[in-house]
Amino acid sequence: MQRGKGEMVRGDLFVMTGASGVGKGTLRARLMERVKLRYSISMTTRPPREGERHGVDYWFVDEATFERIKREGGFLEHATYVGYSYGTPKAPVERALARGEDVLLEIEVQGALQVAEKMPEAQLIFVIPPSLSELRQRLLLRGKDSLEKIEKRLERAREEIALADRFHYVVVNDLLADAVADLERIILTRRRIVKRMRPALERALERDPDLEAELDEIAKRMQGR
Ligand code: 5GP
Repeated sequence: MQRGKGEMVRGDLFVMTGASGVGKGTLRARLMERVKLRYSISMTTRPPREGERHGVDYWFVDEATFERIKREGGFLEHATYVGYSYGTPKAPVERALARGEDVLLEIEVQGALQVAEKMPEAQLIFVIPPSLSELRQRLLLRGKDSLEKIEKRLERAREEIALADRFHYVVVNDLLADAVADLERIILTRRRIVKRMRPALERALERDPDLEAELDEIAKRMQGR
């Protein structure tokens, strides 16, 4: 959170997206241990999985509630994914950005493209597998999907990778630690842009009278030598 001449600098919105099974969830968790980010909790009509908590992993809602919020324009983006609805509640994201906090969304590709349309300043990070065969291996080992579904997901991943030009950054999730380090660098680099560094620039132009007095003394002594 930084201030420049008394006005709050808006935070950045980071949108992490990529194919199902590429490891977005794990990357997000590791990244958030390393950099301060506000994670946007999505709303979904999918029932909770074991261990998932309402208001922590997702806001679990029924169809009617989701539809109502959608009608009221309450989502920054929303999409249907394998039969369930998912959406990013707009107000909390807006509030956090206005407070100067950096916000992270972890969403599927169609939703990420909607965010890009609505907020062109959003930083879009595309996570890709090292290869489609690696992705196939991960989906098979995860054992959540039928073979037919896995083939569908792979086809979808292939189509999505072809859209890479619409994103700002690509992170290859081969070695987890490397991918996390890449994500961390992307975020830290954004925090060094001029707009965010205003307070440091202002401080760089300041002079401290006490230190200046001491330095004048030193300069005088040097002259006398
Ligand atoms: P899961 O049901 O496995 O938690 O998530 C399924 C997919 O939905 C994942 O690719 C996840 O990133 C994505 N997802 C989660 N929340 C949102 C959201 O708010 N909007 C969109 N568009 N996708 C989401």
